[in-house]
Amino acid sequence: MVGVEKVRHFRMETGEIAVLRSLFSRGKRSQAEQNSNSSALINLEQVTKGYATPAGEFQALKGIDLQIDAGEFVAVIGKSGSGKSTLSNMITGIDRPTKGQVVVAGTAVHKLNEGQIAGWRGRNIGVVFQFFQLLPSLTVAENVMLPMDFCNMYSARERRRRALHLLELVDMVDQADKLPTALSGGQQQRVAIARSLANDPAIVVADEPTGNLDSRTAEAVFHLFEKLVAGGKTILMVTHDDDLARRVTRAVTIADGQIVADTKQAHVLHPAVEQHHEQSHAIWQPGRAQPQPLFAGAAAD
Ligand code: ADP
Ligand code: MG
Repeated sequence: MVGVEKVRHFRMETGEIAVLRSLFSRGKRSQAEQNSNSSALINLEQVTKGYATPAGEFQALKGIDLQIDAGEFVAVIGKSGSGKSTLSNMITGIDRPTKGQVVVAGTAVHKLNEGQIAGWRGRNIGVVFQFFQLLPSLTVAENVMLPMDFCNMYSARERRRRALHLLELVDMVDQADKLPTALSGGQQQRVAIARSLANDPAIVVADEPTGNLDSRTAEAVFHLFEKLVAGGKTILMVTHDDDLARRVTRAVTIADGQIVADTKQAHVLHPAVEQHHEQSHAIWQPGRAQPQPLFAGAAAD
């Protein structure tokens, strides 16, 4: 991948490379990745997370038990400070539990070391960060290509094509060669969503992915997620939007570090999603017909 290699060597700061490596790089498969007997795709058992504060240890999560099966579309709702981001960070391995077990896609995430977690995450989970975390020195397209580059997924030529296609899905292909600083918050959020799909992960964990979007664009992102679920992905979406939370297959409410409600709901697919169901399996793979974007005419925010 000449373009990204060049960028990596000449334009990226050392700190940025370290961040990227930790987010996306391919590590060696470990024992923990191979040994698990959990049947749920995501299985949290008695997960506690304490943070050291000047006032003593603060318990952000207090004994969370949560099992999520493949194909579920889960909304995590709750007030600010209730522990939603902390919970997502347990599943993605961005943070570790103080106590308890986190087994995701057959991997005991809490047992992996830093390097192993990065590789595992890059292969298995698409993460949409609450505050995007795009690399400012890379263009939009390069940001989307980086997980592919670091995990050595797809051929060099396919990477840019795939990145452009993913950007098309979030109506950002016109901005592909701009730097993130030239974009609005909502546009950066859409790029972060495209990047999360770079390696076609089975699981997407998105922390308030519509938090910076106008309602029409939020709706388009939601449709994209519905389409991904229809194609077999599992999505956990932290959201403040009660309307969206009512439209997923399951809503988990957190208060004060505990699950206080867990509601399974009938999932009514949007007509546009049903129409896309047939071709939605892996959104885009080399050599397959490309599905149409759902974003036609989304607001530029
Ligand atoms: P939410 O995403 O629901 O708004 P968070 O998971 O970010 O909530 O935070 C849950 C609680 O944990 C909050 O009270 C927050 O202040 C606290 N918290 C989060 N991260 C840290 C940290 N690194 N150190 C200390 N407290 C933290
Ligand atoms: Mg949060």
